[in-house]
Amino acid sequence: MPGRARGGVPATLSGRPTRLEVDLGAIAHNFSVARRAVAPGVGVFPVIKANGYGLGVLPIAQRLLDAGADGLCVALVEEADRLRRAGIQRPIVLLSGLSSGVEPAVVALHLHPFVFDLPALTRLSQAAGAEPVTLFLKVNTGMNRLGLPTSSVAEAVALAQRLPGLRLAGLVSHLACADQPDHPENNRQKEALRAVLAQTGLGESRVSLANSAALLSRADTHFAWVRPGIMLYGASPFFPASSGRAIGLRPVVRWSTRILQINELAVGEGVGYGHTLTVQRPSRIAVVPVGYADGYNRLLGNRGEVLVAGCRVPVVGRVSMDTITIDVTDLPAVTIGQPVTLLGHDGEECIDLEEMAAWRGTIPYEVLCHLGERVPRVYL
Ligand SMILES: *Cc1c(COP(=O)(O)O)cnc(C)c1O
Repeated sequence: MPGRARGGVPATLSGRPTRLEVDLGAIAHNFSVARRAVAPGVGVFPVIKANGYGLGVLPIAQRLLDAGADGLCVALVEEADRLRRAGIQRPIVLLSGLSSGVEPAVVALHLHPFVFDLPALTRLSQAAGAEPVTLFLKVNTGMNRLGLPTSSVAEAVALAQRLPGLRLAGLVSHLACADQPDHPENNRQKEALRAVLAQTGLGESRVSLANSAALLSRADTHFAWVRPGIMLYGASPFFPASSGRAIGLRPVVRWSTRILQINELAVGEGVGYGHTLTVQRPSRIAVVPVGYADGYNRLLGNRGEVLVAGCRVPVVGRVSMDTITIDVTDLPAVTIGQPVTLLGHDGEECIDLEEMAAWRGTIPYEVLCHLGERVPRVYL
């Protein structure tokens, strides 16, 4: 409830007011949007790489499994290790492929890696124990990042089927332009994947292509299983995007703190490092205890907005490591200790991930991944 004291309960032991609320119910809702968008029988494997897109992987992983996820996708062996240590036994797909040296860990943790080159197949076979390692061959259909060239997929399939200790679960690929559903490259990549399937004799029932954007906009890319990431965290996967809310997703994060001090400035006085802003009227400038060390990007100085008492107020001057300054002149009732919302709702107003991303010329993915480690996550 905006503007209401939280019963004096500090967010952390230190009493620090800054917190990032992560709404696990909203994540479960967004998962159900993904589940409903695909046909029955299509696997849904949420992507929780990079510490659950920065929000804290374990509570999110557990909630997604409780909501019916068929397995989970991570980028790194270390990320999978955390899940296994927490007792998660469901399938874990390793998206970033198999770099040399990680094979023993992949075997020990029972991971299902994406394999993007032939030598990795031999290394994986050598590392395999009594139980075969389930793997996917990653095909480069046009993203031109990781993946086997389409011309060598047949050879890779044959090798994966011949080498001991391997179980080829299917083919995967990744779309370069899924954020623009009508982009012709989407069809081109899908057809390239179909052509490879025909060549290798593998059926469509063993293929994965779709991320969030393709999942939501192109049923023709769903195949056997889908890999939603950003949509689960409440942001739109499309570009340009208004907000996740506009496509039925629920916001997941709310980042808030409280005003630390208020300064009265006379006309002509400057604010913060470099005095990048000089006030043009008698002003009340409030100090907010969040800075770039918390992931409040420095590009938001003199550009971003925050919510105070349900109103938008501008960030003025530079963003410091531990603080920002905001202009609350138009809100005379505002006092020290007043809640400040950096992301998410305050009353009717809301700062979406998409809006913050646009202020700094990036995408919601990066806003989430850069939320500072030192901001305490509170799970609702
Ligand atoms: C990160 C990732 C995804 C998820 O993408 P979103 O756009 O967040 O849905 C899917 N597949 C692969 C291979 C990825 O690396």
